[in-house]
Amino acid sequence: MAFDADGNRVPATLKQMACGGVPVFDNQAGYGYRCDQCFAVIGSVGQPRSRQEMNKAASSPSEKEL
Ligand SMILES: [Zn+2]
Repeated sequence: MAFDADGNRVPATLKQMACGGVPVFDNQAGYGYRCDQCFAVIGSVGQPRSRQEMNKAASSPSEKEL
């Protein structure tokens, strides 16, 4: 078990991928997973909620302009 930037419990590893590697939670970044074989970043699982809200706040003014 690992913890994301918001302190939520997340799986330390995910299922093995086609490349043969296992996605391991990126504790340094605080979100997302990184393949232990090819170091590919796996999506944005566990992305900090604060950052998602920032994205929302940044995009909403332009949406209103449209
Ligand atoms: Zn891989």
